[in-house]
Amino acid sequence: MKQVASAHENVTIDYPIILWMAIIHLAALPALWSFSWSNLGLTVFMYFITGCLGITMTYHRLLTHRSFKVPKWLEYIFTTCGALALQGSPLEWVAHHRMHHAGSDTDIDPHNASRGFFFSHMGWLFFYVPGYDDKKQLRRFARDIAADPYYRFLERIDVQILLQVALGLVLLAIGGWEYVVWGVSFRIVAVYHCTWLVNSAAHIWGYTNYDVSDSSKNNWLVALLTWGEGWHNNHHAHGSVAEAGHKWWELDITMNVIRLLKLLGLATDIKSFRDLPREENAVASASGTAAEFLANKRDI
Ligand SMILES: [Zn+2]
Ligand SMILES: [Zn+2]
Repeated sequence: MKQVASAHENVTIDYPIILWMAIIHLAALPALWSFSWSNLGLTVFMYFITGCLGITMTYHRLLTHRSFKVPKWLEYIFTTCGALALQGSPLEWVAHHRMHHAGSDTDIDPHNASRGFFFSHMGWLFFYVPGYDDKKQLRRFARDIAADPYYRFLERIDVQILLQVALGLVLLAIGGWEYVVWGVSFRIVAVYHCTWLVNSAAHIWGYTNYDVSDSSKNNWLVALLTWGEGWHNNHHAHGSVAEAGHKWWELDITMNVIRLLKLLGLATDIKSFRDLPREENAVASASGTAAEFLANKRDI
């Protein structure tokens, strides 16, 4: 398979990303000696805006899997919240995640969990791999995102930085430098590691509800930290549906936000695992096979 062969060709160390990770982790450190409940509350609030509404609900369940719909203007607002998490442009995030589903734990998967905890957690970010990161390859896996002018605008790194600076200035005006630390740098690092735990911990520790062909697990701690994303075995089994929690006790806060949007008349066409045919094969329903992805037969 061409994709597999190219995944390990011309790999280079991504020094700008390594430098960025060092800077943002250092910039989060002042949180250690400036704790207050209002600072923590700001972090949780900003985590909800950027991590839950932005990454989990929008980058993941809406843009990557198209498991429900919202009006375009609202999709753009939520996607902007996702861009504030600084986890890459919508194009990069969506394409990498579709690659992950196309061949979890294989060379098609950018954060292949079979390469160990650290690699799948953050190590994979330290390399530029043309097989995953080349613009053509990203567009191949996310044509719908690449075709959208606003999402192409968000691909610009200067735009992503300016959005963050604008937020930082607002927080500085409201609560001084402590708000900038807790609402920007510490929050970004916290959201990073919680998101990354889905790729690392939830591919190692936990239980399974479905017999899938990859290492995905349901991990309650990761689910609590990621607004429901930790029910990852459920998600790998039924990737195209909006719910990650499938049992009544598998708390899925993101799904409750989607239900609230539905009540408000803002979310429609919600795909539910309850609507799937009972006999549907868990593996086949995940998100399509790698071959289908590579043949561009499916977008999710
Ligand atoms: Zn996974
Ligand atoms: Zn997914």
